[in-house]
Amino acid sequence: MPAVVPETKSLNVLSQAVRHCTGCDLYRWATQAVFGEGRKDARVVAVGEQPGDVEDRQGKPFVGPAGKLLSRAFEDAGMDRGEVYVTNAVKHFKFEERGKRRIHKKPDRAEILACRPWLEAEMRAVEPELIIAMGVTATEALLLKKVAITPLRGKFNEHPWGTLFVTIHPSAILRAQPEDRDREYRRFVQELKTAAGWLRHRSAE
Ligand code: SF4
Repeated sequence: MPAVVPETKSLNVLSQAVRHCTGCDLYRWATQAVFGEGRKDARVVAVGEQPGDVEDRQGKPFVGPAGKLLSRAFEDAGMDRGEVYVTNAVKHFKFEERGKRRIHKKPDRAEILACRPWLEAEMRAVEPELIIAMGVTATEALLLKKVAITPLRGKFNEHPWGTLFVTIHPSAILRAQPEDRDREYRRFVQELKTAAGWLRHRSAE
């Protein structure tokens, strides 16, 4: 059954409603839906892929290892995470069990599309000036097409929901070879600085 999303701009109402979503099969195995978090008047929405293991248990987005790295990167880029609304393209954790571990599985196109009405409702509520798409799933959910990140990375594009800026997902830095991690982190911070500069420039207009 398709996701039933209330016609409201109340993030509170939406975050309650998503708990009952059966828009795709992911709700069957996840602990809970993880809705976005942040201020309704945020100028920026950062979109990731889906909750991870820690997020699934805690019910909050970006509280696991990738979320901690994201917080550090925001700080190093001169952005206040508290000023950014953070969310995911898909609200339930997709995983496969390997022994006691739950290993992340990438959501497929049908799941991304099924969940998109929730993302759209968040955008309607927050009305961001800037949307930071982190990684391929977030970018595909926003652009509704298959993409490669490399040609889009670090660039701004117009989007009906706000100006879109594409970068990588912080988990890609955690997955990088140890010798590449610092370089990837610095590049990610540099891209967030570009986004922060865009916001400053817009405030000054
Ligand atoms: S992943 Fe999205 S569409 Fe699927 S059940 Fe969860 S909230 Fe609904």
